[in-house]
Order: sequence, then structure tokens, then C-alpha cells
Amino acid sequence: MTTYEAVIGLEVHAELLTESKMFCGCAVVDSTTADPNTVVCPICLGMPGVLPVINRRAVEFAIRVGLALNCQIATTNVFARKSYFYPDLPKGYQISQYELPLAINGWLEIDLPDGSTKRIGIRRAHLEEDTGKSIHVGGSSLIDFNRSGVPLLEIVTEPDIRSAEEAEAYGRKLRAILQYLGVNSGDMSKGVLRMEPNISVRPVGSNELRTRTEVKNLNSIRSLARASAVEIERQIKIYESGGTVTQATLGWDEARGTVVMQREKESAHDYRYFPEPDLPPLVISPEWIEEIRRSLPELPDAKRNRLIELGLSAYEASVLVADRPVADYFEAVLGSGAEPKKAANWIINELFARMNKAALPSESIAQTHVTPAALAELIALVDRGTINNNAAKKVLDALFERGGAPAELVRQLGLEQTQDTALIEAAILKVLEANAAEVTRYCNGEEKVLKFLIGQVMREGRGKFPAELTNALLIEHLKKRC
Ligand SMILES: [Zn+2]
Repeated sequence: MTTYEAVIGLEVHAELLTESKMFCGCAVVDSTTADPNTVVCPICLGMPGVLPVINRRAVEFAIRVGLALNCQIATTNVFARKSYFYPDLPKGYQISQYELPLAINGWLEIDLPDGSTKRIGIRRAHLEEDTGKSIHVGGSSLIDFNRSGVPLLEIVTEPDIRSAEEAEAYGRKLRAILQYLGVNSGDMSKGVLRMEPNISVRPVGSNELRTRTEVKNLNSIRSLARASAVEIERQIKIYESGGTVTQATLGWDEARGTVVMQREKESAHDYRYFPEPDLPPLVISPEWIEEIRRSLPELPDAKRNRLIELGLSAYEASVLVADRPVADYFEAVLGSGAEPKKAANWIINELFARMNKAALPSESIAQTHVTPAALAELIALVDRGTINNNAAKKVLDALFERGGAPAELVRQLGLEQTQDTALIEAAILKVLEANAAEVTRYCNGEEKVLKFLIGQVMREGRGKFPAELTNALLIEHLKKRC
């Protein structure tokens, strides 16, 4: 039987978080919540005769991304008209870049589940403007132009991706880098970051490039991974049954987990690109590029390495840096005095579990009731022996539900550990009386009986006995009896 491998190239569209649009002064707003058609002007509505002006901030953001992806930045850029008709593109063309994109020939290193890494080539990244948005209501289509003219960066890989797992790893890493650079929120559910894999399959060992299909507008990393896996499987089945794959544009039905045929392509589109006559070539000085290079923030890989040096495992560090809001949250917990390993453990194993249960994505961590200061205080309460781990988990439940101060919640829930040695000793005496046989075994050198006895005493304490003190008192009492 033939074994197949996938050949995937990924196109990503990232809206840039600038204040204003790409070629006009209209504000960039959240197009999922703003009233439709409230931030528009003759330029972004595509009226005849208007003149676009390039947004300097958008160019700077694009250079940031290009540098972070190890690209060469072109010092001479030309914008081009890409002609096509679409109801949400009233001027009949999109201003984009064609022959002279802003960034070329870069790479991005991805982290694979087995711990290895792989470089994915970046072919190009270019600036363009987003289109409006069609909204279908009943039998009618409505158009919202708020998004029209929002700066968009298209980032295209080489066909270096060989599996759905690699596509997922690439999507995850790129999303994190864009967040760290402050150029995109990474909130894919709002459509500000859209991923489109081009997929073909071939027998392992072959170098041919077979007919590919494109899955459009995936709006989560999970969808990217699932859609890629499903499409790879679909194409393999076609070849296995002697058929051929047709070039096509596909949609993704997340609920059903299937690809949906949108249109079959007979030939490549002819967009009739030509240089945009209303914009001069964009010349970028090498000094400006260097200035931006010097101002780049710490990127995910560097942060992960730093966290490993703080004592975290590679896995913990990767989980914490994967989302900028999570990384910022973690650092804020450390800033409030928590020890790195403990902070990582409480976030990954406890806070994430509660967020998962509440169907909250990890990037919303800063919006939960558990502030970084509160989590640091909770960890300190355990460290000081005020509460034990189990009690701390109950306090975290309450914090997550309604917020508040951990020390206050400990009092409200009656979870503070007792320092009353008389109370602990009374419980010890009760347990030793009830387990005379075990006491004898302990005295005869059977150390493991101690574990059983301490368990019995702790149970008497209902979570209020501090472990170390109780342990010491128990041993003291045992020794008296031997
Ligand atoms: Zn405008």
C-alpha cells in the first residue's frame, strides 16, 4: 500500500491593529460589535476620484512581522491593483502588493509534539486592504463597510508543511508571534486572523506537486488542524480508489467536521494586476528598518527559553508562551512574588482546568475573576501553611466564581489550618488508641505504617491540620510508645 504525505502551503490574513485604516483616516473598530457602516468615508467606500494615502503605522507593523519572520525587507515597494468583482468591494479592485512585496524569503521555526523543531519557509508577506463584509439575513444580503480598508497583512509560506500537525504548529506559532509584536489580537473568532491551507498529497518519496485544493477562512487553530486532516484523508481516499483530485476552493463545516465544495477552479484567476497609479512607490530606508529591528519585543521562542532557565519544564514553558495574554498573566503572578514553578503549576493544572470547564479560551485569562495578585496570594497562603493544597483548590473555585481576596475567602469558607497543638495531639492519641497493632509494627521497624497513621490523623483534622507539624507530633508520640 502506498504511504502518502501532505504538501501544504499556508496563507494567513492578519488584520493590523492600527488606529486608522490602510489608506484613509477612518478608525479601525471591532467589526463584530460596531454598528454597521459607521466608520466609513469616500475613500474606503471606493468612490471614484478619491486619493488613498499610505498608513505609516501599518507599514511599520508589516516590517515588524517581516523581521520577526526572518525575512528580507524590500526597500522599494510598489502597491498594485488587484481587479475582481465582489459586492463588498465597491471599487472593483483591492489595493495589494504583487511583484514587489514588502517582505520575502523568511522562515519560522515550529515546535512539533515529539519535541523536535522544523523550519517552515516564508515566501512573502505583503500589505493590502481588507474588504467589506457581506451578512446574509433571510433571503437578503447586507453589506457592512466598517472593515473595508482595514490594513491586512498576507503571509504566505513555502509548501514546506507535511501534515495537519505541522500546519497546526505553524498556525499556533505565527499567531503567538503576531500577538507578541502587538500587531494583531490573535482573536480568530472575530475574523481578525484567517488561515487558508493549500493542500495536496503525494506518495512519500515523490517530489511531484499534485493538484491542490484550498480551504478558506478557518477561524480557529483547532479548525485549521481538523480541516487539514480531513482534507488530506479525503484526497488520499480519492487516489486510493483510482480517482483524481480536482482543483477547488473548499469551505469548512466545523459542526459536521467536513469540507464543503465552494467552487471548482478551471484555471487560475486573472486579476489583471497593475501598479496603483494613485500611490507612489513606497521607499523604506535601511535606517528605519534597523530602528524597528532594535525595538522588537521578546518573541515567544526567547521567552520560552527564559522560562526554562527559571526552572520550568519545556512543556510548561511552551504552554505559557503560546498565548501572549497567558504569558503576560504568568509574568504578573511572578511580579506579585510567586515562585515560577508553583505559578506555572497553578495556572496550567488548576486555572486552565476551571477555564476549560467554563468554555473560556486561554487568551481570556486576564478577564477571569482570578487576578494575578490573587493567585500569588493563594500560593503564599499554601507556602505559609495557612491552608493546605486541597483547601487552596476550594479557594480557587470561589475566586474563579466570584473573585475576592484569598485570605478573606479562607476565613469565609472556614479553611484555615489550626495551629492548636492540643487539638492535633488529641486526634493523634485517638488514632494511636484505635490502631494498636500498627503502632507495634511501627515500633518493630515497619516505617511504611507511618504513612497510614498520618493519613488517619489528617482525616480527623478535616483539612485543617498543617502537614509538617502534624507529622512531627505524630512521630514524637509514636516514639514515646516504642
Ligand atoms: Zn475611510
